[in-house]
Amino acid sequence: MKTLTQIWGVSGFEKQVSDYIVSQVRDYADEIVRDALGNLIVLKKGNGENRKRIMAAAHMDEIGLCVVKITNEGFLKVKQMGGVSAHCSFMNRVVFQNGTVGTVGAYDKPDSFKTSDIKTLYIDIGASSKEEAEKYVKVGDCAMFDGPYQELVGRNAMAKAFDDRSGCYIQIEALKQMGTPYHDVYFVFTVQEEVGLRGGATAAERVRPDLGIAVDITGSFDVPGDDHGNAVLGGGAAIKCNDGSVICDEDMVSQMVTCAQTHQVKYQLDVLANGGTDAGAINRSNQGVKAVGISIPTRYGHTPNSIVNLDDIQACIDLLKYYVESPLEIVTEEVF
Ligand SMILES: [Zn+2]
Repeated sequence: MKTLTQIWGVSGFEKQVSDYIVSQVRDYADEIVRDALGNLIVLKKGNGENRKRIMAAAHMDEIGLCVVKITNEGFLKVKQMGGVSAHCSFMNRVVFQNGTVGTVGAYDKPDSFKTSDIKTLYIDIGASSKEEAEKYVKVGDCAMFDGPYQELVGRNAMAKAFDDRSGCYIQIEALKQMGTPYHDVYFVFTVQEEVGLRGGATAAERVRPDLGIAVDITGSFDVPGDDHGNAVLGGGAAIKCNDGSVICDEDMVSQMVTCAQTHQVKYQLDVLANGGTDAGAINRSNQGVKAVGISIPTRYGHTPNSIVNLDDIQACIDLLKYYVESPLEIVTEEVF
């Protein structure tokens, strides 16, 4: 997971992440396809008589900043790629795909701009003129936030991009550890989730799943000033009830809870007030697809220093593995 969090992969530029995942899943998959958008679709074939298609999705992309203009003084004006906060960006280090490093400054003092005021930000790569800056960076290039992987006390770890490389890690490990499933299971590593669930939508059109599962982060509502939610660090795998993009299917959620109880996987229920996941895109694809979610409680998401709990990650691997292996009863439609 340390490796996965540190790979460069801002929305729309996920190829390095995807290449790494191919190297990890190659020996465990029945089929691997990378589609035109860059989604990586990894099939583990089932052996059930009445098998259906399950699509699990974790996104490879991370948030970042994109250069819109280089000033005569050599500063880089930016727009956001995904849910970037101006306050969380200010004075952080960023890294471009070619390794160029900079820091984020602002034209105004931080107490005078709102967190949505990305226009006030600029990247300083140390260049003293437009000509010098253009030797390293061009308009359209993106930068990720630098956030090294660091293990903390209490089985917790801190890094950038746990959103959603922790989900990618969970899918890779579930695939490696699972036996032959009943249903066909498609582990999809999606692109461009942070800019509007784009890869998840097109991948669902290809897979035509009977059930969708988003494997993504959720909040951890155990920090000062943010307790309006149930999931907490160390509380186990968070089973999604709903988020801003989807209301999960109640029967499939019940089956997931039963699965966790049967296999003694630590779990908690999760409602996320704001923010969406690929579950929302899958849910509305084709002619409607039942969707659920397995979430990783995360403190300080969408910052370079987000924190997850390693026991929660293991619980998510176990829950995903047991759930997709089992002969789930998936009622897709009923004719009366
Ligand atoms: Zn995410």
